[in-house]
Amino acid sequence: MISSIHRPTVATVDLQAIKSNVKSLQEHIPAKTKTYAVVKANAYGHGVVKVAQCLADQVDAYCVSNLDEALELRQAGIDKEILILGVTSAQALDLAIQNQLTLTVASLEWWQEARRFCGQLDQLHLHIKVDSGMGRIGLRSLEEAEQLLVELRKDGAQIDGIFTHFATADEANPSKFNSQLAFFKDLIANLSYKPALVHASNSATSLWHSETIFNAVRIGILIYGLNPSGKELSLPYPLKPALSLESQLVHVKEIEKGETVGYGATYKAQDKQYVGTLPIGYADGWTRDMQGFHVLVEGHYCEIIGRVSMDQTTIALPEKFPIGTKVTLIGQNASKSISATDIAQKRGTINYEVLCLLSDRIPRKYFN
Ligand SMILES: *Cc1c(COP(=O)(O)O)cnc(C)c1O
Repeated sequence: MISSIHRPTVATVDLQAIKSNVKSLQEHIPAKTKTYAVVKANAYGHGVVKVAQCLADQVDAYCVSNLDEALELRQAGIDKEILILGVTSAQALDLAIQNQLTLTVASLEWWQEARRFCGQLDQLHLHIKVDSGMGRIGLRSLEEAEQLLVELRKDGAQIDGIFTHFATADEANPSKFNSQLAFFKDLIANLSYKPALVHASNSATSLWHSETIFNAVRIGILIYGLNPSGKELSLPYPLKPALSLESQLVHVKEIEKGETVGYGATYKAQDKQYVGTLPIGYADGWTRDMQGFHVLVEGHYCEIIGRVSMDQTTIALPEKFPIGTKVTLIGQNASKSISATDIAQKRGTINYEVLCLLSDRIPRKYFN
C-alpha cells in the first residue's frame, strides 16, 4: 500500500528516543552482553530501515520474524548479523545463505527438510531454539537437543547460538518464569556442545530479571520506549516512547440537540455541540473500539463520538477550533498525553498490538 502523504495524518518517530532507550538498557546490563535489536513487523510499526540504521552503531545484530523481513534489511544495505526468529521454509535456504542470514532451528524434522532442499548445509548459520515452556516452537528436552546437535554437526552446520523465550517475564508472579529458567539452565549445563551465544532475554526479562542474562539480549518493545507489562510492573529506569500519532481537524461544525453522528446513529447530541472530523479510521489501524476513548486538541481531552469509520473519526469539541488544528492521538499535547498503553487498556489488548496495527497508509516521519 502507498502511504497517504497528502493527508494530515502522520506518525512521527523520534530516533533519539530509540537510541537513548537502547543506551539506557545497555547501562543496566553487563558490558560484554550482545544486543540483538528486534525489528520484526516493520520495527513494531516504526519503520524498519530507519530504526535499523539509527541503531547500527549501538547494537550487534537484528532479529526479524521471517525471511522477507530479513531481505528488506539486506536490500537497504544493512550488513550486520540478522537472526530470523521464526521457522524458515526449507525451500528458501539457499536464498538465506546468499544473504548471510542466521536461522532458527526448532526441530529435527526441519533439519531433515533442510537436507532435502539445501545443497550447502555447512554454510548455514543457526541458533537452536529451546521450548522451555512458551509452547510455540523449539526442542522440548535435552534428549531432543542432543539428537539434533549430532545431526547438525554431522552436516557441518555452524551452530552459533542457542536460545529460549519466556512466556511470563512481564508478570509479577515469577513461578512460570522460574520453571522455564530452571529448565533452560539445566539443558545448557548438560549439552555436550555449547554454542558461543546463549540468550533468553526479551525486553521484560532484560528489565525485571537482569540476573538472567546469559550473553545476549533480544530487545523489542523496550527500544520503542514502551513498558512490556503495560501498567502491571513499573519500569526500573525511564524509557521514552518514540512514536507519536497526529492528525488535524479537517471539518468542524455545530450540531443541534437530537442530531446523530456516524454509522448506526449510535451517538445522539444531548445539546447543541461542536463536532470535529479527523482523517483517520480503522483502515489506518485506528480501530472501531476507539469509540468512547479520546484524543487531544489544544490540551483538551476530546471524546471520540459515533462509530469510527474506515477513513474518518468524529470527536466532540469544547469550542469551535479552526480547521487545521492539530489533534494528538498518541503522544504529548500541551501538558497532557495519551500513550499506546492507554489505548491498549481501552481496547483490552497490549501496547505492542496498538503500534503494529498502524497501517502502511499512515506515513512515518523521522526527526533527530
Ligand atoms: C518478539 C520477540 C522478542 C522481543 O520481545 P519484546 O517483548 O518486544 O522485547 C524476543 N524474542 C523472541 C523470540 C520474540 O519473538
